[in-house]
Amino acid sequence: MADIEIASLGKLFAGTPALQNITTRFEDGEFIALLGPSGCGKTTLLRLLAGFEMPSSGRLSIGGRDMATATTMVPPEDRNIGFVFQSYALWPHMSVRRNVSYPLEIRKLTKPEIADRTEAALAATGLTAYADRMPSDLSGGQRQRVALARCLVSDPDAVLLDEPLANLDVALRASMQTVFTDFHKRTGATMVYVTHDQAEAMAMADRIAVMDQGRIQQFDTPQTLYERPKNRFVAEFVGRGTVVPVNAVEHRESQLHADVLGTRIAIRSDATTGISHVCLRPENLSISETGDLRAKVARVTYLGGKYLLETVSACGTRLLAETRAKFEVGTQLGLTITTPWAFSED
Ligand code: ATP
Repeated sequence: MADIEIASLGKLFAGTPALQNITTRFEDGEFIALLGPSGCGKTTLLRLLAGFEMPSSGRLSIGGRDMATATTMVPPEDRNIGFVFQSYALWPHMSVRRNVSYPLEIRKLTKPEIADRTEAALAATGLTAYADRMPSDLSGGQRQRVALARCLVSDPDAVLLDEPLANLDVALRASMQTVFTDFHKRTGATMVYVTHDQAEAMAMADRIAVMDQGRIQQFDTPQTLYERPKNRFVAEFVGRGTVVPVNAVEHRESQLHADVLGTRIAIRSDATTGISHVCLRPENLSISETGDLRAKVARVTYLGGKYLLETVSACGTRLLAETRAKFEVGTQLGLTITTPWAFSED
């Protein structure tokens, strides 16, 4: 079992907080993404899980075993955790096969066992044909597969990945995502994957912890983050949309209603009091002749099969809509807003 329990975890660098009061739990076998802008603390949280850094406060345990507090720490090599980095961290003077088998050699397993497990890991990551090459003779995607194969042989309880695809081109990143999700299915390991790429997090993770300024802003499934953001940061960081203020919120006939951009509409929310903003996603806006909200097309982007229209309303708000039909820049439209998600912004 490798559930990860994090309690009131904090990390200061020279008195400045990089992580503040993180309390959460990653379930055994979950694929977790840590998502957030540069400097939000993703890598620091991963390094604390790995045992490369010591917390300043709080504690963390893996599989029910205490791993770190501000005064005690289990070293990385005793945590049964695998690491995959953006830089691959392969041994340049060893062949692919040796890179993969080396962790088992250190553990002094028998030769036949090392050979069996190494060949199985090479096969599982599609590297059998490259086993005798040196890392310098591989592409970036192949090198990252070697790093994964090396993780796989050790049969870790948890695997920590720090932006492992950041060095690869877009097409390869997409195909490598499948390699990671296959790896996850095969091992059943708890995976914690750091990325600032939301599409990557959405495509792979069971749950995503969206981080900002050293805190977890929301920790939910990709669908919940998109459809039910808890605050402005999450609404704007995950998916397309515009956050606008609401007025005169009232609960009537078991439905919330509010004034949004001068129109009275139904809204949805978890919050019962203090609702202050809605997130208008393209799905919440439909184009119609009779739409109350008047807007002008400012920009058109082809998304494949549909267009993204950036419009500007009469009051100057930028609103995004999607259409199958192409519109010209400058066209005047009517927009109707359908039950957007609302939250309280403090
Ligand atoms: P990125 O996506 O750019 O890698 P991140 O979300 O992983 O960013 P961290 O690397 O965790 O962010 O950094 C969080 C904060 O802690 C930043 O303000 C960073 O400057 C600071 N920080 C991280 N490591 C150290 C260190 N060793 N010494 C001092 N400050 C540090």
